[in-house]
Amino acid sequence: MNIAIAGAGIAGTYLSHLLGERGIEADLYDSMDHGTSCGYRSCGWGAPAGIGKYLATVDLDLADYCMDSMDSMEFDGLVARTPLCTINKPRLLRDLSAGLTLHRHLLDIRDAGDYDIIVDATGITRAFLPPCRSDLVLPTLQYRVKVEPLGGDPLRAGVYGTRIPGLGYLWIFPLGNGEYHIGVGGIRMDQHEAILQHYYDEQAHRYSFTPICSCRGVVRVASPYSSLPFSTLQSKEDGTRQRIIGVGESIGTVAPFTGEGIVYSMECARILAESWPDKKRYERAVLARFAWMRDERETLDYLLMEGKVTGPRLRDRWRFYLNARRSGIRLPLVEAFRRMGSLSRWVENP
Ligand SMILES: Cc1cc2nc3c(=O)[nH]c(=O)nc-3n(C[C@H](O)[C@H](O)[C@H](O)COP(=O)(O)OP(=O)(O)OC[C@H]3O[C@@H](n4cnc5c(N)ncnc54)[C@H](O)[C@@H]3O)c2cc1C
Repeated sequence: MNIAIAGAGIAGTYLSHLLGERGIEADLYDSMDHGTSCGYRSCGWGAPAGIGKYLATVDLDLADYCMDSMDSMEFDGLVARTPLCTINKPRLLRDLSAGLTLHRHLLDIRDAGDYDIIVDATGITRAFLPPCRSDLVLPTLQYRVKVEPLGGDPLRAGVYGTRIPGLGYLWIFPLGNGEYHIGVGGIRMDQHEAILQHYYDEQAHRYSFTPICSCRGVVRVASPYSSLPFSTLQSKEDGTRQRIIGVGESIGTVAPFTGEGIVYSMECARILAESWPDKKRYERAVLARFAWMRDERETLDYLLMEGKVTGPRLRDRWRFYLNARRSGIRLPLVEAFRRMGSLSRWVENP
């Protein structure tokens, strides 16, 4: 059986390893043409320490990739302990690709005919699967910035929702050596540059900001449930059948509230490798494992509803709280609930 994996992002490369361990060989394709300074797709590089267990299964050590710790982070004025860090994702992707045969071009229609199974690991592009049944995306703009404090403390890691009109957030992720990823993303938002400029202006008395590079991106925050179908059968020219099966962000394994997709794409790849090649078992397992993403998507749909006058419901606040807990962020319950009331301000006064 000939198998191709289209996409050498985190999902495609990690899956290649997991399948290889089971004696299943696959050809990996990616042009790696992202138009970014780091050579990889736009990403904040934030990950929970729990990513270490996924790396260990392919003999990699998280300590080799950690750039900076985010053990203390600010969330709209609330400081919390977190198990988050930034990882050198380009280095991780290079190491994951080492030893794999990567065809450095996109998998196109001509090559595609050679395969019985094509794994669509093409992220936001979803190049081979039919469209998601209800897609939702978050456009982003991120800068890598050198930040120097003007006499005070170094800039703290943080995520700020109240700075964004509508649903979105501004993130500040430290990369070590005084460098940071500072980015903004918002659903149906297009004032990225202006929001970032406003932030720099506001902080100009405390820090100097020197941009190093920038990139635009889009994150699929639809949830797996709204990204069905995960799999499809099509006929090849010779009349034989070809299976397409999605993994990672192509099928929406991204936290809808936060846009975190690195660890969840690895988890999705693990589920696919363990269910290979049973597509029904895979679909059931992905929908069950990421059922909470469907709930988060439901909250986003509710908050995005036209003409709505009320703020987040109790269940929405609870979902925000659970989201933080899931990422290991220990927010005090009552204070967190109170602050999440600020969501209503974003929604009611965009
Ligand atoms: C600005 C931004 C910040 C983010 N920050 C974070 C963060 O801090 N933490 C976190 O966990 N997540 C973050 N994410 C989300 C995370 O980056 C993704 O969810 C995750 O990397 C998805 O991995 P993937 O392998 O599924 O897809 P991708 O990483 O998108 O990889 C898909 C690959 O497929 C390739 N491709 C496309 N078409 C074809 C084709 N026809 N043939 C072959 N290859 C093809 C592309 O070139 C690409 O390399 C962020 C996303 C953005 C945009």
